[in-house]
Amino acid sequence: MKKKYDYLIVGSGLFGSVFACEALKAGKKCLVIDKRNHVGGNVFCENIEGINIHKYGAHIFHTNDKDIWDYVNGIVEFNNFTNSPLALSKGKLYNLPFNMNTFYQLWGTKTPQEAKAKIEEQIAIYGVKNPQNLEEQALSLVGKDIYDNFIKEYTEKQWGRKATELPSFIIKRIPIRFTFDNNYFNDTYQGIPKGGYNKLIDGLLQGIEVIKDTDFFSDRQKFTELADKIVYSGKIDEYFDYNLGVLEYRSLSFENEILDKEDFQGNAVVNYSDTTYDFTRIIEHKHFEFGKQGKTVITKEYPKEWTPSTEAFYPINNEKNQALFEKYKKLALNEKNVIFGGRLAEYKYYDMHQVIAQALTRSKKELKND
Ligand code: FAD
Ligand code: UDP
Repeated sequence: MKKKYDYLIVGSGLFGSVFACEALKAGKKCLVIDKRNHVGGNVFCENIEGINIHKYGAHIFHTNDKDIWDYVNGIVEFNNFTNSPLALSKGKLYNLPFNMNTFYQLWGTKTPQEAKAKIEEQIAIYGVKNPQNLEEQALSLVGKDIYDNFIKEYTEKQWGRKATELPSFIIKRIPIRFTFDNNYFNDTYQGIPKGGYNKLIDGLLQGIEVIKDTDFFSDRQKFTELADKIVYSGKIDEYFDYNLGVLEYRSLSFENEILDKEDFQGNAVVNYSDTTYDFTRIIEHKHFEFGKQGKTVITKEYPKEWTPSTEAFYPINNEKNQALFEKYKKLALNEKNVIFGGRLAEYKYYDMHQVIAQALTRSKKELKND
């Protein structure tokens, strides 16, 4: 018997929303459900004092892929925001990512030659040749002073684990440059949707039936029977009732303050590098959209241990969790009518552009085969 929907899409984050949008274009009927009281997953913005607040942490869109950039700009135009965070370490402000400005502020080096010589000297202190973990990776890339001032304590509070117990790929995201360039990303395209991320999600979900406040597992059988296929972007271990074990995450809590002043820190993101502060960064949201409101809203981001009742933000891709994930992945291959995708279902530290690219590839393959 023909079911009511072609696809039941679990999760209205970028993966679910892009898939739904492509399926609708191909003439398919979709139902999107989300357990939260809003759509958009972690890119959702809440408007406070006329400012778009990135409710689940600062989100800066960046990509090298022109097709992805054109795809999102086809839905909402992006502004030219460039992320240039600062780091407060032991009471002093420095530019990030690690570049000629940081090296000058730290050591007084004025030329790329001086800075390179200093970094080589710093790397030689420990002489790590074959990095096996985040600490060794950082020491082999930037050496002792930068590791001690900007990485060790920040990383250990962010992840709640020793830097020696974390995979090295986490730190490879951060560029090191011998130019005076404070752009945090190397990508060609970067920005924030004009009017906020909700415009992007609303555009993707236009014309699609959505039910909020609805957990797939509240009535799994009923939801499964509604559609021919399921697109699942929730946690993969939860899908299999955690029967092989629980995958670990790092969680966060966010503390918002409305301040009766125009500007608090003069920048969207300031990282707090040392353990003097329990939070890792302060976000001042108006700067993402060059806001001129009379008030400002700031958010302190506190890392915290994940429990099944808290939000799962960062997968902890160490050996133990990765091995468990591989077992779930094998089970997922046997679920013929389920498409697993996104940060939680793939247990991967994906950025937005990567999730969109993946949803486009998967939907193209799926809708072509149909
Ligand atoms: P999500 O956005 O997590 O969406 C999954 C959705 O599924 C959620 O809405 C959830 O409620 C729903 N769901 C889960 N289980 C169920 C269920 N059982 N029933 C119903 N619904 C369910 N990326 C960048 O490119 N740039 C950045 O600057 C950036 N900053 C980030 C900062 C933080 C703090 C975090 C955590 C992430 C950041 N990211 C950034 C990554 C970005 O958030 C993700 O790549 C992207 O949002 C993932 O989309 P998704 O659809 O896979 O997952
Ligand atoms: N990191 C750090 N110091 C910083 C910024 C980042 O040590 O000032 C490390 C930390 O381990 C973090 C990783 O680099 O988890 C990736 O940083 P990014 O800013 O990309 O993290 P995200 O925005 O995804 O939280």
